[in-house]
Amino acid sequence: MHKYVESLRDEDPDKRLNKLKKILQDKNIRISHQRLLILDYLITHPIHPTADMIFSDLVTKDPVISQATVYNSLNLFVKNKLVKELDFNMNSKRYEFKRPNHGHFICESCGKIQDLEISDMEKPDMLKDYTIDTTEVIYRGVCPECK
Ligand SMILES: [Zn+2]
Ligand SMILES: [Zn+2]
Repeated sequence: MHKYVESLRDEDPDKRLNKLKKILQDKNIRISHQRLLILDYLITHPIHPTADMIFSDLVTKDPVISQATVYNSLNLFVKNKLVKELDFNMNSKRYEFKRPNHGHFICESCGKIQDLEISDMEKPDMLKDYTIDTTEVIYRGVCPECK
């Protein structure tokens, strides 16, 4: 799935758009220009943006887009498990195109949020009889650029 998101990111824009249409169709979500724009933005900007960041970037491309459209589309994508809503106890919720099994590093100085692979992490013994749906790993600190 990780590879899948990366391959979408590297795809040429028209092909990516067709794949995104297919993704929406598979989830029975009505295709709209703005929904495609928002999904495309999330795939090409793996920066865990807030809804406001998405809006202010997209409104320069498509002046018709509204804040409400961004919020409603994000909620719809989250409900359909296409997008993950992340709560890092920051001012606003963050969003990313869903990809399983990864943790995050958050720089306390510049606020940058980076993905890190945690697929090798073993399940603790104490949880061996439990069913685990999600694992959340968050490292906080200072990134090399801020040191
Ligand atoms: Zn930093
Ligand atoms: Zn992430």
